[in-house]
Amino acid sequence: MCGIVAYVGKQEALPVIIKGLKRLEYRGYDSAGVALLNDAGLNVYKKKGKVSELENFIESNPNLHSHIGIGHTRWATHGEPNDANAHPHYSASENFAMIHNGIIENYEVLKTDLINKGYTFHSDTDSEVFINFIEDIYQNNNCSLEEAVRLALHKIVGAYAIVLMNKEEPDTLIAARKGSPLVIGVGEDEFFLASDATPIVEYTNQVVYLDDYEIAVIRDAKLQIKTIENVETHPYINKLDMELEAIEKGGYEHFMLKEINEQPRSIADCMRGRLDSRAGRLILGGLRDYMNKFQNADRIIITACGTSWHAGLVAEYLFEEFARVPVEVEYASEFRYRNPVINSRDFVIAISQSGETADTLAAIELAKQKGATIFGVCNVVGSSIARATHAGSYTHAGPEIGVASTKAFTAQISVLSMMALMLGYQRGTLPESKYMELLSELEAIPAKVEKALKLNEQIERIAAQYKDARNFLYLGRGYNFPVALEGALKLKEISYIHAEGYPAAEMKHGPIALIDEEMPVVFIATQDSSYEKVVSNIQEVKARKGKIIAVVTEGDQTVRKMADHVIEIPRAHEAFVPLISVLPLQQLSYHIAVMRGCNVDQPRNLAKSVTVE
Ligand code: GLU
Repeated sequence: MCGIVAYVGKQEALPVIIKGLKRLEYRGYDSAGVALLNDAGLNVYKKKGKVSELENFIESNPNLHSHIGIGHTRWATHGEPNDANAHPHYSASENFAMIHNGIIENYEVLKTDLINKGYTFHSDTDSEVFINFIEDIYQNNNCSLEEAVRLALHKIVGAYAIVLMNKEEPDTLIAARKGSPLVIGVGEDEFFLASDATPIVEYTNQVVYLDDYEIAVIRDAKLQIKTIENVETHPYINKLDMELEAIEKGGYEHFMLKEINEQPRSIADCMRGRLDSRAGRLILGGLRDYMNKFQNADRIIITACGTSWHAGLVAEYLFEEFARVPVEVEYASEFRYRNPVINSRDFVIAISQSGETADTLAAIELAKQKGATIFGVCNVVGSSIARATHAGSYTHAGPEIGVASTKAFTAQISVLSMMALMLGYQRGTLPESKYMELLSELEAIPAKVEKALKLNEQIERIAAQYKDARNFLYLGRGYNFPVALEGALKLKEISYIHAEGYPAAEMKHGPIALIDEEMPVVFIATQDSSYEKVVSNIQEVKARKGKIIAVVTEGDQTVRKMADHVIEIPRAHEAFVPLISVLPLQQLSYHIAVMRGCNVDQPRNLAKSVTVE
């Protein structure tokens, strides 16, 4: 979480940094700040609130011209969101300023030591301890700042992406990372550093992804990278594959709405070049070298967090049905701390939109140590998970900026569906004719998604009716059970209405007690193998006067007679229904949140790329 941006070069630094911070606001938005260096010295400006509040705050300041600067948009971990805790932080001498994304786990010990040495602190953050720890080493060792950083990093426990400025070196930025992302954009005599490539894309398409335990020094328009063991490495320049339009709103009121509506294309993009039903071809390049391991795995373990975990649950149904292989779906945060039984015959799939999710990364490391093969399903190209795994497939959904994930979820399910079909076919559990039929079913999904999205206005009317509800229940079975969880999560995240997702049959083991005429219950009741059972569950809710909003297969007459509202979605093969049934739930949450005046793209307390545990 938190976004960092830095610039050094011929342009004015401030506009580059402010624009970059706005692009990164999805990562955190409780306070923001910049540090600039010019004749007036090394000055830090910071403010609680969004980047626009920082802009207002510095608007009339005459000292903002600078060709070097660092900026930060925060998602607080240590210390409440206020001006003092905002970044950048000065060192005690005010000779250095630093921005930090991550958490320093041993900050308390370091802080006590520093206090004993006479340091005082102006914030409650771990980050201020970090910069003073560096300054203390700098002073005691009489060394350069980069050497002090290097020595400090040997003692720092936790995760960080940092960028430092030094009052005495107006052409120098020093950066390092471990566990939190950092991309360096290489322009002509100018450099851009950021948490992801979105602040960089309009200036250059040449980027270097800094690796863990590397320190980058940009001095006099040259980039040098060394490991923390002081070994020089040769930066590999990647070509950025990102369009500027993809990270702008393109006429939509919110990124979330844009991203919901992009799904016909993002799912098609995900399948492009991989799936061709007429030729009977399905190829995931990332699996090529690992197909043997995949095919012969005793077990598939899927690890993820949040919405990606829901995609993992859908995949459990897919893999078990088509490939007859046992699957476990694990919250990465639980998996990593419970000494799980894993061995070299396990195939672990790690799912993460950002590819930076700290818990998922830690789960990957653990599974790797135990000898398992790790496959990543990520959206962000070049992300840490993409690099930490043995192999993987990108979801190709394009940048997802809205904090509540929508198109990344359906793209993840698309990749996982393709993996399940490949596996079933290779293992011989999916006969050729069935395989071919499923390929065409999957290929037909983007057109059905397009059709389903046309229900938007109907859903907006339903939203208007229930926007003031205090609770919602989402129920589904089989493939639609994870969709119920995802629908409830979407509503919670952006509208702050309490919502629970449940397997429909479990309702009578508890949640049924909540049902009265005030309770809207969203059923995902498409015509699949559990349809009749779900219809019975709808009856049970109706008998208790709950308000029923049902997502059904088009043409359904049975549920229409019982429900208060029916939302008819195109018919699809049951295994691929989640790709469609989730859409009205995304739209419902979106409209309810807008009607309640919530900040849809940047919901309170959340941030998109969860780079802290
Ligand atoms: N731990 C730091 C803080 O609370 C940085 C948090 C972040 O990554 O935004 O200020």
